[in-house]
Amino acid sequence: MILDGRAIAARVTDRIGEETVRLKQEARVIPGLAVVLVGEDPASQVYVGAKARKAEELGFHSVQHTLPASTSEADLLRLVEALNRDPAIHGILVQFPLPDGLDRTRVITTISPEKDVDGLHPVNAGRLATGIGTPIVPCTPAGCMILIREARGDDLGGLDAVVIGRSTLVGKPAAQLLLNRNCTVTMAHSRTRDLPAVVRRADIVVAAVGRAEMVRGDWIKPGATVIDVGMNRIPAPERGEGKTRLAGDVAYEEAAAVAGAITPVPGGVGPMTIAMLMANTLSAANRSIGRDAVDY
Ligand code: NAP
Repeated sequence: MILDGRAIAARVTDRIGEETVRLKQEARVIPGLAVVLVGEDPASQVYVGAKARKAEELGFHSVQHTLPASTSEADLLRLVEALNRDPAIHGILVQFPLPDGLDRTRVITTISPEKDVDGLHPVNAGRLATGIGTPIVPCTPAGCMILIREARGDDLGGLDAVVIGRSTLVGKPAAQLLLNRNCTVTMAHSRTRDLPAVVRRADIVVAAVGRAEMVRGDWIKPGATVIDVGMNRIPAPERGEGKTRLAGDVAYEEAAAVAGAITPVPGGVGPMTIAMLMANTLSAANRSIGRDAVDY
């Protein structure tokens, strides 16, 4: 089974569109997303543009703040605080990486946890880890869980899951979500011994490493679900001189021959990430007026 992230993300965003209309009609609330970009990193410009466009498409109140790379940390934090106070804004996303001299941690901890639609604030990570309160879950691992449900259904109890990578953005929350769904979770990282043997035990593999095609076909247990988070740009001389292509962390052709279900790159996890950002913003808008968030 090829897990078609574009199709599944479209289904999620259709639902978000419907729920947005309902929220407007029933409570006169329009979900508001503010995206903040500091500097001129070309990849960040593309990501921010895509997020703002999707928010507009869904009928959100979408605001983009573009600040020069020379912006002081005090000015950036002042903007975040103003957005925290703005009742028309339910989600705040500051695009990373930040230019040198701006402290990512200070920015993350300044965003109100209730508007932290990237799910990076320690309060949200703590809610996810403890089960106390309702966390905003980082978008990429939240999207991975929807893809895993597509392959495995709702009951993941007792399955062996291996998450490769332990970042706060992807690996750690992915492991936590799988644990919450009763998987037996192994977190692998750069110091893991005999990674192929560890991965071979897995019914579910989530690869979030950032090393092109590191996970080989003979690491995969037959029938396993393989979620490839990696997005690596590599040379593609077969497409012409100087050309490049996107590659995941998994050697796709090899792994697809063995796996029960697998995500392609591109077209797997990537589209889910942006859909879940919209889902997190709608949920934050719902919660701001005491309504339950929609489950996807
Ligand atoms: P990151 O912060 O760089 O973390 C990478 C993790 O991989 C680290 O925990 C590192 O271990 C581990 N690692 C590195 N080399 C390894 C090796 N040889 N064997 C085992 N583990 C190894 O990266 P990230 O932010 O989690 O992102 C991971 C990948 O996902 C990147 O390609 C990124 O572009 C992509 N990504 C995609 C999306 C999307 O929407 N599709 C979203 C976010 C990220 P240590 O902790 O020991 O150093």
